[in-house]
Amino acid sequence: MSDYWIVGARIVDGTGKDPVHGPAIHVEGDRIAAVGSPPSGAQTLDARGLTITPGLIDAHVHLGLSSDINPSLRRELSVAELAADMFDNCGRTLDAGFTTVRDTGGIDAGLARAVSSGKVRGPRILQCGPVQCQTGGHGHFAAEWEPTADWYDHDIPGLRSISLLSDGPEQMRKNVRETFRRGADFLKLCVTGGVMSTHDKIGDTQFTTEEIAVAVTEANARGSYVTVHAHNNAGIRNAVHAGVACVEHGSEIDEETAGLMAAKGVALVPTLATMHALLEDPTQAGLPAGITDRVGTVLQGQVDGLLASRAAGVKVGLGSDLIGANQRGRGRELSLRSGIESPMLALQAATRINAEILRISDKVGSIEVGKLADLTAWASDPLHNPEVFGEPDKVALVIQGGRVVKDGR
Ligand SMILES: [Zn+2]
Repeated sequence: MSDYWIVGARIVDGTGKDPVHGPAIHVEGDRIAAVGSPPSGAQTLDARGLTITPGLIDAHVHLGLSSDINPSLRRELSVAELAADMFDNCGRTLDAGFTTVRDTGGIDAGLARAVSSGKVRGPRILQCGPVQCQTGGHGHFAAEWEPTADWYDHDIPGLRSISLLSDGPEQMRKNVRETFRRGADFLKLCVTGGVMSTHDKIGDTQFTTEEIAVAVTEANARGSYVTVHAHNNAGIRNAVHAGVACVEHGSEIDEETAGLMAAKGVALVPTLATMHALLEDPTQAGLPAGITDRVGTVLQGQVDGLLASRAAGVKVGLGSDLIGANQRGRGRELSLRSGIESPMLALQAATRINAEILRISDKVGSIEVGKLADLTAWASDPLHNPEVFGEPDKVALVIQGGRVVKDGR
């Protein structure tokens, strides 16, 4: 059992309090047992010169899309190669300082189990299994010529499951029950068009309020919740009225919608890093170049929606939404948010707030006695230079549940 004191570091505890220098963190078993001074003779871990934050949480990842997108959907990559890319991505995510992620679509519960059982290095994974979408909606990434009946042939049972198609409340009920049967922790529905889907428009609404409400009822019956992929206000309002707990992207959120979300306690997870990555090079994710037309407007819209949501008092988390073979820049989401808000707010969004959105704030998200010892130590202070958040080389130490899982000191 782990029993040691981390000494000499500057501590930013994730609650929003000013950084402190001096106290040591006592790790006992998988928990933070104390913050204070070590007794003489205690085993210590020397963290002099490092800045320690809670382990980061990415609330919007796609570990199931860890290879170039189009080749992987076209079956040009073997199952072994796809799995290797996913395992590699899990390890890189941990090495970038992320000890927990929420997978918002594409994996099977088997990947989460492979990591939680210790067979694969990676962050703690909460996942929704396949995304719920309507026929032809966002999440149904088939070419127009491909018969819808063939869509599930893209799934790889036990590894990858992209989406389930529902048309009508009863089909939704069956599909979300099936999703929970397969081990999902929560549900994700696509309620508007998206950037990646080429046969719908960003302005489209998808699913009726009635269909969304069925998913909410089924999730609530299991003590779980629904989050939604949503860009436009009409789709977001449908979802909020149906009782969802969280909105992803939110690139058109106006004052009125933000006010409605705040009143209903609905959280927002903006996703900026993926938009920047696509703007810089759409082909790096294996996507067609034409996709950039949609990206620019969505990016600025998300920044505006984020600010409107903040002003209205919405809980705002943080997610990278990276897809494709290169997901190294996950922490860049915090650098980008630092530029819009502040490094401290970005850090809080990626720790305490995301833990609340994931409903695990009793366990992780801050450096407090009794919480799991999930900690990230940075070689230079990311609050001083927020670019550091996006540089895995600057992550000197990662501790997950009391165990040192990366030591780059
Ligand atoms: Zn996504």
